[in-house]
Amino acid sequence: MVRLNEIRQGERSVDLPDRFDASLYFIGRIRTPWTSRLETPRQGRLDGPTCRLELDAHWADGLSGIDAFERLEVLYWLHESRRDLVHQSPRNDGEARGVFSLRTPVRPNPIGTSIVRLVKIDGPVLLVRGMDCLDGTPLVDVKPDRTLFEPLAPAQPGDFQVGDT
Ligand code: SAM
Repeated sequence: MVRLNEIRQGERSVDLPDRFDASLYFIGRIRTPWTSRLETPRQGRLDGPTCRLELDAHWADGLSGIDAFERLEVLYWLHESRRDLVHQSPRNDGEARGVFSLRTPVRPNPIGTSIVRLVKIDGPVLLVRGMDCLDGTPLVDVKPDRTLFEPLAPAQPGDFQVGDT
C-alpha cells in the first residue's frame, strides 16, 4: 500500500542523526509519466513506459561507451521520502518489519535502484524502460547491469576469509 508521509499503526521512528556522513552530486533528473506516489508503480517493468534519464551537461562525457550495454542499473534519490521510520507496516495492517528487510522507498538513505532496458541515447539523455519513480526524481548514478558481468572466481584454498587472523 503506497504511503505518503503518515506513521501507521505498529510503526516506529527514530531521531535522525545531527550530521551527515557524506554528500552527493545529483547527476541529472529522471522524467517519467508519474506525478503522484499513489500512481507510481511499486517496481519498474522492462516493458513499462519509456522514461528519460536527463544527465546534466557537466557529466555527459561520462556516457561514452554506454551504448555497449542493453541493460543498465539506475540509482536515484527518492527525494519525497521521510527517512526516520525504522519499523514499517507496508500493508498498513498493524504488522511491522525493519526497514532493511523491505524495499520501501522510506529509508535512512532513500536510494532507489532499477534495472532498465536502454532504448536510445540522445546526447546527454538516455531513454530507458523499467523505471518506477516520480517525474523529476534526482539521478544519482548509472552503471551497466551487474548481472551482465562474469561472477568473481570461486574462493581458492588459502584465500583470506573474514574472521581469519
Ligand atoms: N525500484 C526501487 C527499489 O527497489 O529500490 C524503488 C522501489 S519503491 C517501492 C517505488 C515507490 O517509491 C513508488 O511506488 C512510489 O510510491 C515511491 N516513489 C517513487 N519516486 C519517489 C520519490 N521521488 N520520492 C519518494 N517516493 C517515491
